[in-house]
Amino acid sequence: MKDWKEALAGLKQENLFRETCSYAPEDAVHVRLEGRSYLLLASNNYLGLTHSPAVKEAARAAIDRWGTGSGGARLTTGSHPLYAELETELARFKGTEAAVVFNTGYMANVGTISAVAGSGDVIFSDALNHASIIDGCRLSKARTVIFRHNDMPHLAACLAQVPCTGQRLIVVDGVFSMDGDMAPLKEITQLAERYSALVMVDEAHAAGVIGPAGAGAAAYWGVKDRISIHMGTLSKALASEGGYVAGSRELIAYLVNKARSFIFSTALSPASVAAALAALRELKKQPDLAERLLSNAQFVRRQLIDAGFAVSREPTPIIPVMVGSAAKAVQLSQALKEAGILISAIRPPTVPPDASRLRLTVSAAHEQTELAAAVQKIAKAAQDLGVLKGGSI
Ligand code: PMP
Repeated sequence: MKDWKEALAGLKQENLFRETCSYAPEDAVHVRLEGRSYLLLASNNYLGLTHSPAVKEAARAAIDRWGTGSGGARLTTGSHPLYAELETELARFKGTEAAVVFNTGYMANVGTISAVAGSGDVIFSDALNHASIIDGCRLSKARTVIFRHNDMPHLAACLAQVPCTGQRLIVVDGVFSMDGDMAPLKEITQLAERYSALVMVDEAHAAGVIGPAGAGAAAYWGVKDRISIHMGTLSKALASEGGYVAGSRELIAYLVNKARSFIFSTALSPASVAAALAALRELKKQPDLAERLLSNAQFVRRQLIDAGFAVSREPTPIIPVMVGSAAKAVQLSQALKEAGILISAIRPPTVPPDASRLRLTVSAAHEQTELAAAVQKIAKAAQDLGVLKGGSI
């Protein structure tokens, strides 16, 4: 048994202690906390659709018609009518035969990987994949081989050298959640074909964000049809909660029968499913939303580079401001909070030791004037703390 008192003391000493905090949203990008309004540069609400009148109305109407809870698991009585509509629209959005909704993105990854990969199989997983992919690999009975982040020669070497009596599966984030860079899916699909491996892509931070019509990373790289398992979330650009997997009819039927996180959990409420469905329709109706998001992201990246930060020009809204130590990351986040801006400090175990950072995220709902003012405040706070020295980090 763990000694949790001692563990907590250790976390505090290492600046790794965390606690939840109650933020009251004012709109998609401002929150109220302890009587003060803050600019939010830390949310995954990429399109700002949590506050879209159409999305909110759809959730309200679903409650009026079907009540608040689903009352059962998907395979018992929990599959209320909006599920079929959402799954059909998700399959159309991803250009696949079928899709299935899970209760969270986390559950989609854990349930899918542990259902499809078994003993004799080998999973090749990027070193910076999301925790839910890591947990899915651990739960499966397959051997897992971690390849260096986005390192294609290393992946090729692993594929060539690791013996496999069953099926190979390569799994990556389309857009990496803490670094905001993209997996090179063209090269990955080429390697997969050479070694008869299946490819699974987690599109949590890509669907609704990048690619034609916001269809995600696989569509961005033009390799959509070479990916066997398209995973995504309803909790980010789609302004609700839940996760999904899109793919062939057989894959989806298999997951419905075998993915334990799908089978053994009460289905999402009508309001959550309705909100995701309405957000998906808004995404289609308003293609300028995703364009605005990326233009805001490029704007902030340029402004940060001009201020002296080492920031890449990836076309994604996740922008890591590297700080190094967990203590400095917490101090910078705290200084920005005092300046009216919320950006989370990301520390181990989420990122490697000495790679602590502020994870800045941009939304389509931000105004560029407030983004420009925020970058000035970030630069000033970083200089005051000595993490942006002489205009460069
Ligand atoms: N995959 C990635 C890449 C993520 O970043 C996250 C959550 N942030 C998830 C999966 C899990 O999704 P959810 O929050 O919907 O459970």
